[in-house]
Amino acid sequence: MNIILMGPPGAGKGTQAELIKAIYPIPHISTGDMFRDAVSNGTELGKEAQKYMEAGKLVPDKVTIGIVEERLAQSDCAKGFLLDGFPRTTVQADALNQALLKLNKKVEVALNIAAPNEILIERLSGRVSCKECKKVYNLSYNPPAKTGVCDICAGEIIQRSDDRGETVAKRLEVYNEQTAPLLDYYSKKSVLHNLNGNRDSRVVFEDVVKILESL
Ligand code: ADP
Ligand code: ADP
Ligand code: ZN
Repeated sequence: MNIILMGPPGAGKGTQAELIKAIYPIPHISTGDMFRDAVSNGTELGKEAQKYMEAGKLVPDKVTIGIVEERLAQSDCAKGFLLDGFPRTTVQADALNQALLKLNKKVEVALNIAAPNEILIERLSGRVSCKECKKVYNLSYNPPAKTGVCDICAGEIIQRSDDRGETVAKRLEVYNEQTAPLLDYYSKKSVLHNLNGNRDSRVVFEDVVKILESL
């Protein structure tokens, strides 16, 4: 199954990806996670991406497309993939189309998760994660049992620097300007499914399963 997860920052893409992965064993490809790994490893890619991420802007298309193309060509994507946070521009969507065409594949379903801006802001300001195993928590909705410590691995709980202050507003603005137009692109291809993300994540996931089972 070839799935893309769309929606503004904080809509719950990563959360739904974790749930989907548990049922459908396909690789979860998150460009945000790939960039954050590159930043923490201090690679050239990380140095390039960091400037944009900290400003709440998109990393240039050429760089982003390159890493996704490379990843999709790996053998574990043969039975499907779950793209989270890519594509985010029409240039990226066209490049994805071309890359998949070469691999004799296509996007089968685009899941679009929506929620009101004030909810997104609240969720992002409460989002924290484990430094070690990367599990994502929310200080209001699903906090770790012991403050500052991961339930799963006892790792340190940290907050993403781009989930603080003004960067959140910038990311929402960038989403509306550059990414929201893509919904029309996938709607025209008849693969778009809209989900109300302003509900408990398990309830959202029930709808996700219904859509995936209907394919
Ligand atoms: P969120 O889940 O909050 O929407 P991500 O983890 O997907 O955020 O992305 C974090 C940052 O990484 C983005 O603000 C952007 O700077 C960069 N990034 C991630 N995916 C892309 C992409 N497809 N194109 C350009 N930049 C991206
Ligand atoms: P995205 O990947 O779209 O940026 P996340 O899945 O990381 O979003 O979710 C953003 C924050 O909101 C996280 O702290 C997460 O735990 C929380 N969250 C996700 N889905 C829900 C939901 N349906 N209800 C309440 N909180 C949620
Ligand atoms: Zn952990």
